[in-house]
Amino acid sequence: MNKIPMTTPIVEMDGDEMTRILWKMIKDELILPYVDLKTEYYDLGLEHRNETNDQVTKDSAEATLKYGVAVKCATITPNAARVKEYNLSEMWKSPNGTIRAILDGTVFRAPIIVKGINPCVRNWKKPITLARHAYGDVYKNTEIKVPGAGKAELVFTAADGTETRELIHEFKGPGIIQGIHNTIASITSFAYACFNYALETKQDLWFATKDTISKKYDHTFKDIFEDLYESEYKDKFEKAGIKYFYTLIDDAVARVMKEEGGFIWACKNYDGDVMSDMVSSAFGSLSMMTSVLVSPKGVFEYEAAHGTIQKHYYRYLEGEEPKSNPVATIFAWTGALKKRGELDGNAALTEFGEKLEKAVIKTIESGVMTADLSRISDNPNCKTVNTHDFFEAIKSNM
Ligand code: NAP
Ligand code: MG
Repeated sequence: MNKIPMTTPIVEMDGDEMTRILWKMIKDELILPYVDLKTEYYDLGLEHRNETNDQVTKDSAEATLKYGVAVKCATITPNAARVKEYNLSEMWKSPNGTIRAILDGTVFRAPIIVKGINPCVRNWKKPITLARHAYGDVYKNTEIKVPGAGKAELVFTAADGTETRELIHEFKGPGIIQGIHNTIASITSFAYACFNYALETKQDLWFATKDTISKKYDHTFKDIFEDLYESEYKDKFEKAGIKYFYTLIDDAVARVMKEEGGFIWACKNYDGDVMSDMVSSAFGSLSMMTSVLVSPKGVFEYEAAHGTIQKHYYRYLEGEEPKSNPVATIFAWTGALKKRGELDGNAALTEFGEKLEKAVIKTIESGVMTADLSRISDNPNCKTVNTHDFFEAIKSNM
């Protein structure tokens, strides 16, 4: 069989533990037999990050800016236990954080829907894609524990020295205060990413804040989205037959429960943190979630939404065969291959990505699946298989 050729490489970011094992299996069994794969390889495994003083992570992000498409394996974010386990010279930062700081952008997460794995919310028929603003608000806060009576003020000192003051509260006794911020540049790039992604995937876009209560802070988010929509996207949305819909966050939460899905829900940072966990667990499983970072610089990084599946890895090291669900990592690869095909005008590559995704879904719908899914499946023909046998079934469906 002739392999599908590629012209531009994909930036390949290898990772850690069980997902590193799955990564190699996916390449060897599902991609390399069919595609003349071109990648620029970066080993983001924790040992190599440590050896390079984490330079490899930065290099991989810079390469993504150069080539436009990356696929990333899950990686360990070190904590004290990992520093000891891997004898690290430093507690290296989260690779995802480092990459995001270089690429900027918005993370879009969507569930992979298959028959037999049903969402807890009965009327959800289509995926709900969550777009989380990944900068600022409570994640970059400044806090004070107020010990007793006193006056708390918000002070802004402009570059020319002029001060603007607002009274927060006259404390009569102990309390707490918090300062948060965001920037117009970051909110604007978040809005661009959401509008572009809605157009690209032909789905309605929802956005919600608490602008009735937060008349300056949240209202600014609302205004930026609305102005951009009116000035740059209204016509494009009408042509594409999709809608932009703004409402209050509490109204959005209530409505989401009653819709059938099939839209993008753009969330401020905290709302996105909380709602993405709710939406993904209601749809079934983290191993069935796709995740892509869309950068305003026009580049894309695909990954799985779950971590390195540490517990499975330790069992694998003791000799157990791989049993983890590779679907989210396969879809990270197909997402990257399809995007590479689209950008290079390589229809065969895009078609291959689509075929592989269809074969994965067909395999699970036929009843062949890993243990994490058979636990929650109501398919009467359900058969639990290990990762290797799951790949064999996918190949025969392809
Ligand atoms: P995890 O990898 O998400 O796994 C937690 C549990 O979820 C697993 O023990 C397993 O449950 C289940 N699970 C997740 N993915 C699965 C899959 N593909 N197939 C089957 N079951 C799956 O989280 P963790 O083990 O707590 O974290 C390990 C490391 O991942 C941490 O060092 C963390 O820093 C890192 N992490 C990385 C990323 C990223 O790179 N994007 C994201 C999150 C976490 P059972 O044990 O019940 O089978
Ligand atoms: Mg969370």
